[in-house]
Amino acid sequence: MRLILVGPPGAGKGTQAVQLASHFSIPHISTGDIFRLNIKGETELGILAKSFMDAGNLVPDSVTNDMVAERLTHEDAENGFLLDGYPRNIGQADFLKAVLEKAATPLDAVLEFLLENSEIIKRLSGRRVCRSCGATSHAIFEAPKVEGTCDLCAGELYQRQDDSESVIANRLAVYHEKTEPIISYYRDTGLLKSISAVGEVADIAARAIAALK
Ligand code: AMP
Repeated sequence: MRLILVGPPGAGKGTQAVQLASHFSIPHISTGDIFRLNIKGETELGILAKSFMDAGNLVPDSVTNDMVAERLTHEDAENGFLLDGYPRNIGQADFLKAVLEKAATPLDAVLEFLLENSEIIKRLSGRRVCRSCGATSHAIFEAPKVEGTCDLCAGELYQRQDDSESVIANRLAVYHEKTEPIISYYRDTGLLKSISAVGEVADIAARAIAALK
């Protein structure tokens, strides 16, 4: 299965990606996660990406495209992959198309998560991430048993710099302007499946799997 997840920030793509990658036995490739790992490791790529990410802007295609093309050559992506957070504009979608055509490995599906703007803001502003295991929770909807502490591993919870309210507004604007056009791009190819991103994690996962059958 070669699959792309697309949807606004906060739609739960990351959470669903973990479920779907496990269901289809494919690697979960999140460009946001790769950038965050590089920031943590203080690599050249991380230093470059940080200023764009902190402001809620897209990291330039010249950097992002090569990073994804390289990741897709890893052995674990031989029999499929799930891309989470890429492509995020038409230029990236065109680049990916060319890479996959060259490798004769066409996409199977693009899964779109639908969510209202008001719901997105509520979700993102309360989102907390564990510094140790990376699990996400919500300060209000999914409050941890001990404030500021991960229920899974007791690591410290923090708010992503780009989940602050001013940055969320820019991320949404960038999504509507740059990323949304790829939805009609993939609709035209007949690959697009759309599902509601509202409800329990397990119900959304079941909806996703049914849509992909
Ligand atoms: P995410 O974790 O997917 O919400 O991504 C966090 C941030 O990483 C985004 O707001 C961008 O700054 C950057 N990023 C992730 N994926 C891409 C991409 N495909 N193109 C450009 N920037 C990206």
